[in-house]
Amino acid sequence: MTRSTDHPTTLRVHQYLGLQPGPRLIVLGAVHGNETCGTQALHSVIEALDRGHLTLLRGQLTLVPVTNPLAYRGHAREGERNLNRKLVPPAIPQDFEDRVARVLCPLLQAHEVLLDLHSFHTAGAPFVMVGPHDNQGLLEPFAHAQAEAALAAALGPALVVEGWLETYAHGVERRRAHPVTVARAAPDPQFGVGTTEYMRACGGYGVTLECGQHGDPQAPVVARLAVLRTLRLLGMVGMAEEMPEDGEVGGGAAPTPTPHTVMCLFDVIDCEHAGDHFSREWASFDPVRAGEVLGHRDDGRPVVSEVDGWIVFPNPRAQVGQEWFYLARASDRVL
Ligand SMILES: [Zn+2]
Repeated sequence: MTRSTDHPTTLRVHQYLGLQPGPRLIVLGAVHGNETCGTQALHSVIEALDRGHLTLLRGQLTLVPVTNPLAYRGHAREGERNLNRKLVPPAIPQDFEDRVARVLCPLLQAHEVLLDLHSFHTAGAPFVMVGPHDNQGLLEPFAHAQAEAALAAALGPALVVEGWLETYAHGVERRRAHPVTVARAAPDPQFGVGTTEYMRACGGYGVTLECGQHGDPQAPVVARLAVLRTLRLLGMVGMAEEMPEDGEVGGGAAPTPTPHTVMCLFDVIDCEHAGDHFSREWASFDPVRAGEVLGHRDDGRPVVSEVDGWIVFPNPRAQVGQEWFYLARASDRVL
């Protein structure tokens, strides 16, 4: 147990309790410690609230600028493991992230809406991840798809991605059945449960906003605007007129409507051999055509896209048994 003695011992939470009832919103930054756009944005929002540039009129606003303090301190994605996987409050914590989960999960459960702010490794445009359509299935039953879609549509980015947990669970199932990867397979679909999935499992809703590349100076701007637009959408705030650069948010005018592209993840392809390789350098959301060769297996077999769509989260450095890339097709959802 000595290894944890120099680890952070608290989670710092900023909470504003409106004197009028209203929505209960929680915003997270740095669930992955090297994704600091949300941290910067939340510090700026806290300053605006404290200076009176922004006023909470109703409801409950909880801001967690650094959700994984160990990872944040090391400027790393993870502390001892990925906090955004298998997020459950454990009875007996096994690692640092388990201890965070034990306080974070009840906090999420006490709210109705979650905005989780992230950034990503390679260059690309910001995007929003949403959950499933309303359904009464066993994997991720849900009844707030409309409210969640409205939130996704209000944030700013034009690109919206759905289908994460279902596709992840499908990948787990296939890994279990595969002789090469079975030994390394994630043990259950619960591994796909991160902050937003946990929120939905508790009866709330929420989205993950990927604000841009790590270190992109625009990413904190995207994150900050998204927080302000969420507060405005939920009718929780008033803003001083002189508040800089947020005139469009604070005033009567809604953000300029953007035509959204909604992609549905539907398949995940694992790396099966160290020699598996892509046919070219793919960026996330590069379009692919049915029949297009995306890569080759070690023995030379081509890996082909079966549909017109997009390649998502390609990882040329994937280990055997890990996700190599995802495939998405156009969703029938209209935002
Ligand atoms: Zn992240």
